[in-house]
Amino acid sequence: MTDTPIQHHETRSDICEYGRGLLEDDLTTGTGGNLSARLDENHIAISPSGIPYEEIEPEDVPVVDMDGTVVSGDIDPSTELPMHLAVYRERPEVGGVVHTHSPYATTFASLGEPIPASHYLLSFTGSEVPVTEYRTHATAELGEAAVDALGESYNATLLRNHGVLTADDTLDDAYTVAQMVEYCARIHYQARAIGEPEILPDDEIDRLSDKLDSYGQ
Ligand SMILES: [Zn+2]
Repeated sequence: MTDTPIQHHETRSDICEYGRGLLEDDLTTGTGGNLSARLDENHIAISPSGIPYEEIEPEDVPVVDMDGTVVSGDIDPSTELPMHLAVYRERPEVGGVVHTHSPYATTFASLGEPIPASHYLLSFTGSEVPVTEYRTHATAELGEAAVDALGESYNATLLRNHGVLTADDTLDDAYTVAQMVEYCARIHYQARAIGEPEILPDDEIDRLSDKLDSYGQ
């Protein structure tokens, strides 16, 4: 492939930067959550396992091929590597994947309830945020469940009794979706606490998605 070492360095730096963002934006705590970016058809960079986000340096970020073999970096990849790889294999257009334990969205994951479009920003993810079947963390089975829930078009899913997974064209986009999911989950939670939120109809979601597409171009 044409990727140069410098491009790898930039992408691995992005993994460090957005990893620290997960903490600053209250999307995860401690070493929870993980994130990755596609480098080329056969390789991704993914956050390393067990290092506090504040301490991760670009050279610590493992580069892994689609079979899960580490080709660069001395530290083991995130234990959720199988889930990340499953998404990249199934969705060739995906360039970045973010997994969080953000608290409001994870509340709905623990209820096994999809997050409906009670706020227009949910259109960042599709018509709702679906929920996977429950599968044990860090297994290939969790990856299969996530891919099933994402289907061909969703950019986010709740991992039942666990957290959130987002996937989009770039790591930056997937990170934005993770923020939007948490924001919409919080609004939906708050609205449900004092009343019954109105859910936007599908045709409005379609219109909003079209607006987002044209905004992104
Ligand atoms: Zn997790």
